Order: sequence, then structure tokens, then C-alpha cells
Amino acid sequence: MSIKELDQTYVLPTYARNYDAHFVRGDNAMLYDAQGRDYVDFGSGIAVCSVGHGNPRLAEAICDQAKKLIHVSNLYLIEPQARLAERLATLTGYDVRTFFANSGAEANEGAIKIARRYGTDEEGNVKRYKIITLEHSFHGRTITALKATGQEAMHTYFGPFPDGFVYARDIEHIYELIDDHTVAVMIELVQGEGGVQPMEKSQVQRLAAELKKRDILLIVDEVQTGIYRTGEVLASNLYEITPDIVTLAKGLGGGVPIGAIMTTLKEILKPGDHGSTFGGNFLSTRAALEVLDILEAHKQSGELDHMMILFEERLKSYVQKYPDLFEKEVGVGFMRGLRVKEGKEAGDIIAAAFKERVVVLKAGKNTVRFLPVLTMTKEEMELGFARFDAALAAL
Ligand code: PLP
Repeated sequence: MSIKELDQTYVLPTYARNYDAHFVRGDNAMLYDAQGRDYVDFGSGIAVCSVGHGNPRLAEAICDQAKKLIHVSNLYLIEPQARLAERLATLTGYDVRTFFANSGAEANEGAIKIARRYGTDEEGNVKRYKIITLEHSFHGRTITALKATGQEAMHTYFGPFPDGFVYARDIEHIYELIDDHTVAVMIELVQGEGGVQPMEKSQVQRLAAELKKRDILLIVDEVQTGIYRTGEVLASNLYEITPDIVTLAKGLGGGVPIGAIMTTLKEILKPGDHGSTFGGNFLSTRAALEVLDILEAHKQSGELDHMMILFEERLKSYVQKYPDLFEKEVGVGFMRGLRVKEGKEAGDIIAAAFKERVVVLKAGKNTVRFLPVLTMTKEEMELGFARFDAALAAL
């Protein structure tokens, strides 16, 4: 059987595999398929491959670690886990401790558990439990993270769900939903899956201050925005707020699965309250340490900010050049989108781009989304945009 036949016979069909490409290797922002054709990757596996494909330093770190120890149980000390927790606190400037998980949804589950624990007294009496999230948010696919996700269409089949989630239309609407049972507010600072929608900085800062006053936790889901995606280590740094809980995943491991919950509530969980077999093991935390080293140096060199500015300029130029296709350019840093005009289909643009061998993604109802590898070179960017241009011209 061909790979496609194997996939179609044995893999559960949860993904719409609209494209036949079968990638076999990568080199920074380039992907190569089984026929040897090159593609410019403006998607980085949905914001995961932060240090590019085939990064030799990351590969070396993983390889070196794999030869020594991949895993021992969390009952024992794990050196790179301890170092990574320290590194996250130092890099972000937050006074936090971290729990390591394996994915974004799992990190959010843990964050929700911490919030629920915060709302429960020592005898186990639930005092406050409600968590307010935003419409169009996305927090993951586990039952609770799905219920936290403010998209009713995603709640159709999998009930009954855990209670206690309410959805605000926008940041200002959050205040109206707060009641005596509210224990936390969970938001993305730039909604990713919801359509690359940045929140207003002043509104977020006011919200953070108000919640602090009312003893309501602020959870920031940085699964997509975290680890330099918006130009700073965290979007929370960019927005100049100090959340009570930040969740991470995607870009942190550069492709090695890892999730993290950073919290200022350092003593809230006791041994046995939470755990994970794989979370924080030698392999993933060693990989994440290398990712952070690479990205910190990249940021300090000025190259990351420089490329982000060039990228934004190019996207803006498309709005001017193709006013019939695009309404506006949206996003922050390397989390960008082109809003497609009513009557035009983002899917058609993405398909046309793929034909020209440039990988772009869809977000929300009608946004063409760009999440390039953070180490993308100018040459790779130019090649990608030349191909994107050809795709648009052909539409
Ligand atoms: N939260 C946000 C903001 C995300 O963008 C995603 C994934 O797209 C998730 C959570 C879920 O992460 P994962 O797929 O690793 O469970």
C-alpha cells in the first residue's frame, strides 16, 4: 500500500488532509517532498518549528540527550527540567514555578485545575469555580479545554461537559460576566485559531489590574503566542502584564512535544494534586533548553525583530496590491494574517499558494495565516513571497 492508502485505511480521519504532499525532510524554512520538490514553509507546523526544520543544534542536543537518558519518572530529579523551569522564570522575568506537560490542551487543563484549586478551600468546599473565556478562543481538544474554547460549534457532540465556563464577546464584556463564583479569566492575547486577532493592550492591562483587585486569576494561554512568536519571549511581556498563570506548548520544544504551566501561585499544588508520566522528561526539556538558547541569541542579534518588520511590510503591500482580495493585514510579530474580503475564499488562496510551493494556513472564518519559522532568512522570505505573489496573480 502507498503511504496515502495506509493513512486512509489505518489512521482515524480526524484531519482534512487536503494536500497530497508528503514531506520527507526540511532545512530551516524549507520543506522537501518525496519527489524532491522544495516548499517555503510559512506555517512551521502551526507555530511549532520555532527554530526551523532540521536545526543542527536542536538535532545535536536531542541526539546527545537520547544517547544518555530519554526518560526517568518524575519521582526523581531531572536536571534539564529544573534548568528549563529556571530559564523560563529568568527569561520572562516572572516570579514563577513551572509544571511540565506534553501539549497545549494538557497545559490548559492543568491551568484550569490550578484555578479550581484556588477556588476551593482546604476542606474541599468549592467557593468559586467559574472561568470566563472569550468567544472565538481556542484552548484545545480535551473535554475541558474544548469547553473552555469559546466556539459553540465545537461543543455539539461531546457532552456532557464540565460546568463553569462562560464566554465573553470581548474584553470589555468580561466585566459584565464576573459574579461571586468567578475564579479566573482565561484569554489568548492574540487569538490564533480564532483568526489572528490581537487584543487591545490598554484593555488587557486594565483587565489585569481589575482582576488583581478582585482576586480573580488571569490565565494567559500562550500556547501559540509564547516563545518569541510575537517578538518577545511571551506576549504577556509584550503587553506588559504579569498573569497568575501562563500556559505554553507549540514553539517551546521546536517540534518535540512539550507543554508548560508557569504560575506565580508557587505553593498551590501539593504532591499528588497533579502529574504526568512524560511531562518534563529529559528529552523534551533538553530540547526546549536548546530552543531557548537559539532563540534568545537570535532575538539579541536584532535579526528576529528585523525580519518581523520586513515580513509585516510585505504583507501590508499585498493589501495595497490586491484590494479585491484582502481587506487588511492583522497580527503581531510572526503571527500574522491577511483578512480575505467577503465573497473571496481563504481556502482558494491557500490552495493556489500550495501549487506554487509555499505553505500558508487558514485561521478563523476567512484569514490567510502566516506563522513562519522564527529563524527564517531573508532569502527564504523573498522566495516565499515571490511564490505567493505568483499564486495571487494567477487567481
Ligand atoms: N491553545 C492555543 C491558543 C492553541 O493555539 C492551541 C492549538 O492550536 C492549543 C491551545 C491546543 O494545543 P495542543 O494542540 O498542543 O493541545
